[in-house]
Amino acid sequence: MALQLARTSAEAHIYMELRPCEACGESRFEPASSVVEVDGDLASRYSGTCPSCGARREFVFRLPDDIPLPIDDDPRFGDERPSELLDAGEWLWLGDVAAGDVPARPDGLDTRERRRARTDLLTAAAALTEVLKFVPPGADAVPPQGLWSSQGRAVYAAEPGRFRRVRLEAARDTYRDLAARFA
Ligand SMILES: [Zn+2]
Repeated sequence: MALQLARTSAEAHIYMELRPCEACGESRFEPASSVVEVDGDLASRYSGTCPSCGARREFVFRLPDDIPLPIDDDPRFGDERPSELLDAGEWLWLGDVAAGDVPARPDGLDTRERRRARTDLLTAAAALTEVLKFVPPGADAVPPQGLWSSQGRAVYAAEPGRFRRVRLEAARDTYRDLAARFA
């Protein structure tokens, strides 16, 4: 089977978090990573043991030809291609989670708390950007092919209207505007 592409290590880590240990259901996993060659292609391998049950776990992803450099201030999960690992619904879910704990306003927060809130909001905006990559040019919503995981389909079924381009763009811009308030 062809390896799935992980456009960035951030994307690979989120994918692994969403796939808990098959033996015990633990989602914590702190693997060692290495670059390996698989069928002539470079791949990244994450391996280690489950901290709960000790099961051996391993993920191998194809590496992109060009690895985008991470920018501290601006979380990015990948290049302009839609994800092969997470579907549109999983990205939307991630955006909800990332923004979920952010306080409504910056008043009373110290520098570290503000920075953390800002990063969370920019992460949520980046997750929305990932959902938008599933909307084909000229289309106004994520098509059914953009949803293949059970979690992603559940998010879609709960409110399909959130997957419309205008709603996604508005949510992304709101997160960015809010993030600027915490700068
Ligand atoms: Zn386990």
